[in-house]
Amino acid sequence: MRTPLFVANWKMHKTHREARNFAAEFLSQMTGIDAVEIALAPPFTALSSLAEVLRGSPVQLAAQNVHPEREGAFTGEVSAVMLRELGCRYCIVGHSERRSLFGETSDFVAQKARALIAAGLRPIVCVGETLAEREAGRTSEVVGRQLRESLAGFARERAAALVIAYEPVWAIGTGRTATPELAQETHAGVRSELTDLFGEEAAHVRIQYGGSVKPENVAQLMAQPDIDGALVGGASLVVESFARIVRFRAASPATAARGDAKESERFSSSRRKNT
Ligand code: PEP
Repeated sequence: MRTPLFVANWKMHKTHREARNFAAEFLSQMTGIDAVEIALAPPFTALSSLAEVLRGSPVQLAAQNVHPEREGAFTGEVSAVMLRELGCRYCIVGHSERRSLFGETSDFVAQKARALIAAGLRPIVCVGETLAEREAGRTSEVVGRQLRESLAGFARERAAALVIAYEPVWAIGTGRTATPELAQETHAGVRSELTDLFGEEAAHVRIQYGGSVKPENVAQLMAQPDIDGALVGGASLVVESFARIVRFRAASPATAARGDAKESERFSSSRRKNT
């Protein structure tokens, strides 16, 4: 019912030339791909070049950030209308790096999400708990609050255009992935929160998992009923690894299970070292 969505979040990586080269090579590996949606989110400076390369292809364009106003005296910012005109379909908002490094609040994230919808784009709203919050047993409280505040004023009838990315902060860029069961538990909580907010429409909202997703662990994560794709950072910077991630159905269950067992052990041993 929900088409899986995979988004490459390149953060502040790749010049516009590097982005073009990546996209051309990536597209050559995407022939025959179906039943999955894919988007590349390069830095703003590469959006225009990527739009040209991706035109007419099955791969969509996404932005990493937006300002809620349409235009005005906001030095250094970019509006939803500007992104739309370039051909963007998605835009990430509320990434934990923006929340922690740039002081973005959930209220600001909500304004961005509403501006994106008004301009015809689909917001990817990120939520996730820190390690301290998880260890204090506060995951569902923290994620629930971020969701409610970041979706304030979001119209129920637009819910199907919304994407949520559950990204445990302790799993982003650390090599520690949530086990599929742990991720599913939080995704189910997110779905239930969305049901409180949007009623039956919640069933159409895609909930991505993000946090050290790799070719070796993607199939196991995707086997969970409420995991509808992934927001991928580090592993999306290399054509071969992002291509293997979006082709997750081709991974043999044995390979995926081995990858997952290794991941769990790595996570447990790094937790042991850290305590
Ligand atoms: C991210 O930053 O959205 C992310 C999930 O990064 P990584 O895949 O590198 O953990």
